[in-house]
Amino acid sequence: MTSITDRFCPKCGRPSESDGLCNSCRVAETPWAVCDARMISTHCPGCGATKQVNTWTDTNLEKEELAPDLARKAVHFHDDVKKRAIGVEIRDISPNRSRARLTITGTLYGQAVEKTCLVDLVWHKEQCDRCNRITGSYYEGIVQVRAEERTLSPFEMQTAAAIATQIEDSLQAGGERLSFISDMTENKDGLDITLGSQHIGIMIVQGITAQLGGRYTTHPKLVGEKNGRQLFRITYLVRLPKYRRHDVVKVRRGYVEVEQVDQRNVRVFDLSEGRSRAIKEEEIQKKIGNARDAETALVAYISGGMMGILDPLTGETKECQNKAWQGISAGENVRVLRDGDALVVVR
Ligand SMILES: [Zn+2]
Ligand SMILES: [Zn+2]
Repeated sequence: MTSITDRFCPKCGRPSESDGLCNSCRVAETPWAVCDARMISTHCPGCGATKQVNTWTDTNLEKEELAPDLARKAVHFHDDVKKRAIGVEIRDISPNRSRARLTITGTLYGQAVEKTCLVDLVWHKEQCDRCNRITGSYYEGIVQVRAEERTLSPFEMQTAAAIATQIEDSLQAGGERLSFISDMTENKDGLDITLGSQHIGIMIVQGITAQLGGRYTTHPKLVGEKNGRQLFRITYLVRLPKYRRHDVVKVRRGYVEVEQVDQRNVRVFDLSEGRSRAIKEEEIQKKIGNARDAETALVAYISGGMMGILDPLTGETKECQNKAWQGISAGENVRVLRDGDALVVVR
């Protein structure tokens, strides 16, 4: 009968737990932790992004925060090492170089092990893919926001710009580094947004038309070839509708306020009848203004189906129809727009 104590280590001759080397000789023979002598961290001086292998990633971390993890990556453990721990002390040697002293501990075959190594951390600067494209004025698309037969309102200008910026933020946060806005310019025709990728272009035009209405068309143009691949630039042309929300327009039967414009139908609130309905854009005879720009005027009297309103500009009393649905009483203020000499009460 053989017992454990009958086995001996061929190296040191002491009793062994197995047929081969004893645990302390196994530990001594095993390179249980190996350290790389230097680690390189590449970051972009423009935006601080860091590069791993060939991929750039945005980070908010400073060098001091990146250094310990970078140093720990220099250590390669043997698979059998348990309870691994690495203590890191870092000293800056120059702006481009730091030195890390690592204290590496663990257990191997039941024995505690410990060693130290020195790792040089090299801080390498390189312009990232995105900054490179931005400084090189590279772009893949332009969104042009325009309106049908009118200029863009300041509200539309601001809304379109805010939507674009918000989409850029969410794509960047999602790791789409090349989906950037490189330029945004207001001009007399509208707003031009220059873009680093086609994906952000389509997202922006969809976002703008979803919120402001209208439609968009895409116009690709072949601009060359890169690595055997055809290179296109796309112009995304957004056409905001001729009529906007709260525009008050004249139709055959009176005045209506625009609520929503889609492809060919216009949803309006009928100011004579006090209800919403759909009309065709062709039914609109003219626009008299936007309810947001309405003036406040005093109702001097109500008489039958009519009421007298004091024109805030001239002080003159003007008569217009008293619409039952509005439930206006004398002495009240109402909001009015002008159609020539006449006052039109809006909601
Ligand atoms: Zn031994
Ligand atoms: Zn950069």
